[in-house]
Amino acid sequence: MRVTAAFNRLLALPGTTVREVSFEPARITVTVALRRRRLVCADCQYSSRARYDTRTVDSSWRHLDLGRCRLVITARLRRIDCPTHGVRTEGVPFARPESGFTRDFEDLVAWLATRMDKTAVTQLVRIAWQTVGAICARVVADGLTPTVSTSGSRSASTRSLGARATAT
Ligand SMILES: [Zn+2]
Repeated sequence: MRVTAAFNRLLALPGTTVREVSFEPARITVTVALRRRRLVCADCQYSSRARYDTRTVDSSWRHLDLGRCRLVITARLRRIDCPTHGVRTEGVPFARPESGFTRDFEDLVAWLATRMDKTAVTQLVRIAWQTVGAICARVVADGLTPTVSTSGSRSASTRSLGARATAT
């Protein structure tokens, strides 16, 4: 199996195709392309086939670590001219707007934050103290109700998550 096909299966990021994987000593960078043709505003449901332009730099998101390696997803995004929000970088299905982390990463952090103190979370996932609060706020705003099922998917009650997020 080719390495791009392997990472497609391994990461299973919604709506994406893995184009390239590059390995550095402590970091893996996975370049993906969005499968959909239509552009979607990151702030609302507006979508269009018309692109305003394509950004000249790649966007990147930190994903869940792979072993000892940091895993970073990158993609070259387009911009859309939303009638409500103006010219915006298109939204992606695997990350929340304005976030430098994937949904999977944020959901993990939010779940951990309901179960251990914030210092422990910062050490475990190697992010800044303030970042934990920002991630929890985004997850709560997104209306996620995290819970843990026996299948291993994560979640936590929105109520306790909200309480933690506001307590910080
Ligand atoms: Zn919009």
